[in-house]
Amino acid sequence: MMSAPDAVNEPTFLFNRLALIGVGLIGGSIARAARALGLVQTIVATSRSESTRQRIAELALADQVVDTAAAAVADADLVIVSVPIGACGAVAHEIGPHLKPGAILSDVGSVKRDVIRAMAPHVPRGVHFIPGHPVAGTEHSGPDAGFAELFVNRWCILTPPKDADHAAIGRLSRFWEAFGANVEIMSAEHHDLVLAVTSHVPHLIAYTIVGTAFDLRLVTESEILKYSAGGFRDFTRIAASDPTMWRDIFLHNKDAVLEVLGRFNEDLATLTRAVRHGDGDTLYNLFAERRAIRRGMIHLDLGKPAPDFQSPESKPRRDPLPRPYAASGED
Ligand code: NAP
Repeated sequence: MMSAPDAVNEPTFLFNRLALIGVGLIGGSIARAARALGLVQTIVATSRSESTRQRIAELALADQVVDTAAAAVADADLVIVSVPIGACGAVAHEIGPHLKPGAILSDVGSVKRDVIRAMAPHVPRGVHFIPGHPVAGTEHSGPDAGFAELFVNRWCILTPPKDADHAAIGRLSRFWEAFGANVEIMSAEHHDLVLAVTSHVPHLIAYTIVGTAFDLRLVTESEILKYSAGGFRDFTRIAASDPTMWRDIFLHNKDAVLEVLGRFNEDLATLTRAVRHGDGDTLYNLFAERRAIRRGMIHLDLGKPAPDFQSPESKPRRDPLPRPYAASGED
């Protein structure tokens, strides 16, 4: 006699068909995490170049690797565009007519307002366009650089339009949360200003300071490497980031970056003056104030446990919805 099917062991997917347009560090990490957690039934991927498409297939990052973005999105219920910011508009133009009604279209671009301006006109009615930005990365690029844990305990910012469908926002949020990310929703303009302060201008400073250190030629390269404490080492790591990505960020977040840079230059001028005039009071007060800011920030660290990224092939599939956070260490 046959017993009734065990509903608990039936796989439940957040999305049936995930299409990844662009599979580098970010797209490759999404593919690995989605697969390891069993969040989607099928992953279809594409990339601009034949060599990257071949590498995606070799790394088995997707169930299907197709030649064009238009082919990748056919019948997909979640499409994530992970290409340089400057290429997002052209990709949206290509895929727009092929998107399935009811599908969610998202991206991962580090700047939001300009990406939305470039993509939105190509999104057909009935498709939910919910732009996103996982605030996570490394200085490495390409499909080999991705890893499933990249988004654990990092923020993923979604910048949906005001009239966006709440259910679609919820589904996309759960997708990112399942990766161990914390989801925040804000306007594209606010995102761009926040990121200018926390990421874009600091990167500009890193690029500058690394150039200054090496251009000065007062110290040797090996001395810089030997004696650089953590701070400078981090600057050199940041300066090793992908030049295409950073060029696009500064081209597309110009207004916010210029606003923050203006304030930064004023503050730097104050510090420069204090150093030049030996103004210890100003220096001490400023450093003490900044230390208090830093100390006040520490309690904001979230420290959530990581999801279980053990390959789904090596464990029974379970519903990923109710338990992604709690999975760490349980299996
Ligand atoms: P990546 O590792 O360099 O991968 C880029 C992907 O985009 C590859 O599939 C590449 O295809 C494709 N691509 C490059 N130029 C293209 C073009 N002109 N048209 C169509 N496709 C193109 O880049 P990534 O670091 O994953 O970054 C992708 C996106 O994520 C960017 O928008 C970036 O702002 C955002 N992001 C990056 C980070 C980070 O730290 N890296 C963090 C958060 C968000 P081929 O290899 O076939 O040429």
